Amino acid sequence: MLQDNTLRHVQSSDPELYSMIERERERQRTTLQLIASENFASKAVMEATGTVLTNKYSEGYPKKRYYGGNQVVDDVEQLAIDRLKSLFSAEFANVQPHAGANANAAAYLALLETGDTVLAMRLDQGGHLTHGSPVNFSGRLYNFISYGVTSAVPDGSGERIDIEQIHKLAVEHRPKLIVIGATAYPRVIDVAPVREIADEVGAMVMFDAAHVAGLIAGGVYPNPLHSRAGKGADVMTFTTHKTLRGPRGGAILAGLELGPKIDKAVFPGLQGGPLENTIAAKAVAFKEAAQPDFKGYSRKVVQNAQALAQELIEQGFRLVSGGTDTHLILCDLRTFDAELSGKEAQEVLDKAGITCNRNQIPFDPRSPFVTSGLRFGTPAMTTCDMGVAEMKTIGSLIARALRFRADEVKVESVRKEVVELTSSFPPPAEKD
Ligand SMILES: *Cc1c(COP(=O)(O)O)cnc(C)c1O
Repeated sequence: MLQDNTLRHVQSSDPELYSMIERERERQRTTLQLIASENFASKAVMEATGTVLTNKYSEGYPKKRYYGGNQVVDDVEQLAIDRLKSLFSAEFANVQPHAGANANAAAYLALLETGDTVLAMRLDQGGHLTHGSPVNFSGRLYNFISYGVTSAVPDGSGERIDIEQIHKLAVEHRPKLIVIGATAYPRVIDVAPVREIADEVGAMVMFDAAHVAGLIAGGVYPNPLHSRAGKGADVMTFTTHKTLRGPRGGAILAGLELGPKIDKAVFPGLQGGPLENTIAAKAVAFKEAAQPDFKGYSRKVVQNAQALAQELIEQGFRLVSGGTDTHLILCDLRTFDAELSGKEAQEVLDKAGITCNRNQIPFDPRSPFVTSGLRFGTPAMTTCDMGVAEMKTIGSLIARALRFRADEVKVESVRKEVVELTSSFPPPAEKD
């Protein structure tokens, strides 16, 4: 099953690093990858990342470069831009941000002045560091005001983004920008009511689709640039490596009017030379995401998340918002075992070969370092062709490892079952 050694140069020139890469490859192959922001890029994406395009300096944009020799690179970047615009029906695209955080920084730099007021989601209820955390540049340079989710209710209709609160805060603080999109929120976010509020107070709307870009491309999540009610978000930022299954990186979409400002903010505002090898790999991923089978993949990602959610509920866990519409599940451990923290659960599951992350749940009584929740996602294991049956198995393995966490033999037996399960569902890098 193992692929031929394609790293023979690393192996001979740097055996120390080579053995680390092989150890990581083994880890990815023999454990379950349930981190909601992770995925397995295709071999074509990885090949493009490792090409001679890494050798070229190309500060600027296609046909507007500062260095010579960019004839070919111009074609590569233009191909990525054109494919991306077509994938999301956008007028403007910038494919240079090195990551999602850089894309957000560039969008803020384009749209805001230092000190401007921005509304965004609370970090402890699903928002991202770049949505105004005091330890992040965003919280230091701009005046972020946070909105959150509604309280939990027994029928599962709570813990949704609190639109009334957004409205109240927008009227009170008159933000220049309202940011929506999250890093730990299991439900679809409708841009229409936020757009309405923004129009009422004269704000712009930015949708941070870091997590859901692939679901949008795959047609299982509404495109925030094109709200049902008419005009959608002004800007959409995202990562290319999460549900979109491309290389690690970021990108920005917008309408034509904002294009020049965004281009200027990315370069020379924020970054130097673009990573054209990564941009080539983004082009590959955008082409893959435009194929009909990516729609099938995206549907399976959501079906799998819903199947895993159902099994976790049957095992006694409470899910934030009662379930999921997306690739992501936020699991409240307290109904399963009041003593069990997210930190301990993550450590036990790591021993069992089930990789996930602890996460605060809305109104969490525990600190962000300890937490009462776990976050799970299905994009990576769906890429390995797992389906609903495997999700049921995984849900019961999670519960077993956590229920019998004091018994090393029982945790080890879960680990063995994980190795057996993963051996039938290898990542794309291990296949021909
Ligand atoms: C992952 C994420 C980011 C940042 O992406 P990086 O590539 O890690 O910089 C930004 N916003 C949200 C909502 C995210 O989930």
